[in-house]
Amino acid sequence: MQDDTSGREVLRFAPSPNGWLHLGHAYSALFAFDTAKRLGGRMLLRIEDIDIGRCREEYVEGIYEDLAWLGIEWEEPVRRQSEHFAEYETLLRELRGRGLVYPCFATRKEIQDAIAASGIPLHAWPSDPDGAPLYPGIYKGIPRERINALMWEGRSYAWRLDMEKARAEAERINGGPVTFREEGSSAKGAAGLFEIQPELFGDVVIARKDIPTSYHLAVTADDALQGVTLVTRGQDLFPATYIHRILQVLLGLPEPRYRHHGLIRDEAGRRLSKSARDMGLRELRAAGHSPADIRRMVGL
Ligand code: GLU
Repeated sequence: MQDDTSGREVLRFAPSPNGWLHLGHAYSALFAFDTAKRLGGRMLLRIEDIDIGRCREEYVEGIYEDLAWLGIEWEEPVRRQSEHFAEYETLLRELRGRGLVYPCFATRKEIQDAIAASGIPLHAWPSDPDGAPLYPGIYKGIPRERINALMWEGRSYAWRLDMEKARAEAERINGGPVTFREEGSSAKGAAGLFEIQPELFGDVVIARKDIPTSYHLAVTADDALQGVTLVTRGQDLFPATYIHRILQVLLGLPEPRYRHHGLIRDEAGRRLSKSARDMGLRELRAAGHSPADIRRMVGL
């Protein structure tokens, strides 16, 4: 682990290069950068490009260009997650060795069918904080021989965290419930000590079928490895912190503090999406707006 012995705060902006940056990204990046500056801390940029199917090199270039235009400075070298799959795999192996994850061969269709067969209507089936239906547990606790047979058949599989077991183990290690320190980003933002509720995600996928990691595992690994002390990011990722904290405890990684900020919305009050063209930084720049205009638009 890379230890930052300087005692300075370490902040980061960690975009996924699967689209062009928009005002929401600008707010998040400036929020981290301004906070780092105010605290006399370090500012890192991390490219979260594990989803090799959706990430594109031109978007990575776009990130560098747009952030530099905004006046943001970051340390080199920039960490790119796609170059570190082996490191995430080491952590996954550790979880496997301790029986905290299990292989899941389920296709989306099988999951839908299992929910349908439960007799509970889909709208009444519990979903996780991201809106995905909770995993119905097929392939959980199946005999070793069946797992071997499915692997022999060449069926692809993801690794899921056995949440009940993981939670019990994390509480045992921690000597009690696992919490995190939320600093809140504004007068309105909730600050305080929060107890995690990772069971809201059920047996969450920790490594996907197509890549040996997931957002949750990679972000947890990297924040620790890069010595991030204060994680700033959008409020939409607040519940994801439950998973990151449980992984930190299970893997013996340090605990950063968190500051989840509000989200920039369009005029209709919707969250900005990749298709929010008029909010794209390149479009705004081409239309003659300055970095100072962007700051005004996001209220910074
Ligand atoms: N890469 C994630 C995203 O673009 C953000 C990760 C984080 O800040 O924890 O949504």
